[in-house]
Amino acid sequence: MSNDPKRWVAGHVSVLPKSGIRDFFELVAKMKGQDVISLGVGEPDFVTPWHIREAAIYALERGKTYYTSNLGTPELRKAIAGYVAEHFHIGYRPEDQIIVTVGVSEALDLACRAFINPGDKVMFHQPCYVSYHPSIALTHGEPIAVPTYAKDGFALTAAALREAWQPGAKMLMLNLPTNPTGGTCTKKQLTEIAEFCREKDLLVLTDEIYSELTFDGTHTSIASLPGMAERTIFLHGFSKAFAMTGWRIGYACGPATLIDAMMKVHQYTMLCASIVAQEAALEALQHGWDDVLKMREQYHRRRDLIVRRFNEIGLTCHSPRGSFYAFPDVAKTGLSEKDFAVGLLQQERVAVVPGNAFGVNGTGHVRACFATSYEQIVEACDRIERFVAQGRAK
Ligand code: PLP
Repeated sequence: MSNDPKRWVAGHVSVLPKSGIRDFFELVAKMKGQDVISLGVGEPDFVTPWHIREAAIYALERGKTYYTSNLGTPELRKAIAGYVAEHFHIGYRPEDQIIVTVGVSEALDLACRAFINPGDKVMFHQPCYVSYHPSIALTHGEPIAVPTYAKDGFALTAAALREAWQPGAKMLMLNLPTNPTGGTCTKKQLTEIAEFCREKDLLVLTDEIYSELTFDGTHTSIASLPGMAERTIFLHGFSKAFAMTGWRIGYACGPATLIDAMMKVHQYTMLCASIVAQEAALEALQHGWDDVLKMREQYHRRRDLIVRRFNEIGLTCHSPRGSFYAFPDVAKTGLSEKDFAVGLLQQERVAVVPGNAFGVNGTGHVRACFATSYEQIVEACDRIERFVAQGRAK
């Protein structure tokens, strides 16, 4: 009999690909202490605003150390309902249409477990957030990647969906603005996508975690379009807009029957999100908007800088309409995205993520996160310019 502990690992886990991001960060970790500028991790460089941290401290002082309702505290669900109604024009009942989760990550996992039967086909646009494909695979669904292209600003189109659609498709995952491209859809494009979803009777899972970091135009949620709220699960959270990644708090909203199905899984797995994080999230929604505006202003300035510099350097880069990611094309350097990222890290100590970590449609690109200071971005761009120039001189 084999003694290898691997024999106990479930098949659906052992087939998961190693995250391209993790691979790359192992390399970055080895260079610790060497003045590396990281444009790698997708995390705000701001600390959670003080009044939000204070609300958590105050909760602890008052002895708030217990479980909450599985759905989350009534106060937080009420505040979420108010926020979603005001910012997205969608009405959800706090009593049975909202569930507070351990980040958008848990909401995504719950939705996959609650709605995907083995063999169900799930469509998603690509390049995309690294967790989508594994979340589908873990629940034995069949992923259908729908390509988006730089020439369209990485916007998903109904035409691309139609081309990729297969019988048995049950769900569409959307992430607008998108990690890693910053692409998003116009209201017209979203309307066409909504029409397609109704025609094919698709359930929609829309992850709008970057919606507050929209720089151009206004953000529209597909859930707000006619006939869509009843077939859409809306996911949102606090990690990006309020700089609260470490608090692990997010939520899902949708038709009561579907939220109840997610709740059934959640009550036996996570039980509830941390009460301290829920108290902090309540403070964020009630009094955190000036902070969001200030942070967004900073991201906006940085976006304009990094996009301008990439294009000047000759790395064609569309302007991301939202999120804090730029996704320049590095193919003209003659290097693969991986060689570009590794070379840039080793020669100039700037970390970016190879684009194919986000799926094959990210080939030829790298992701540069501009959630770092303006000064650091200036320095990083100078180093990238030098790296590209050296490559040309060779
Ligand atoms: N969805 C997208 C598109 C993301 O980019 C991320 C994090 O990078 C998450 C979800 C995870 O969010 P949370 O911290 O709320 O779990």
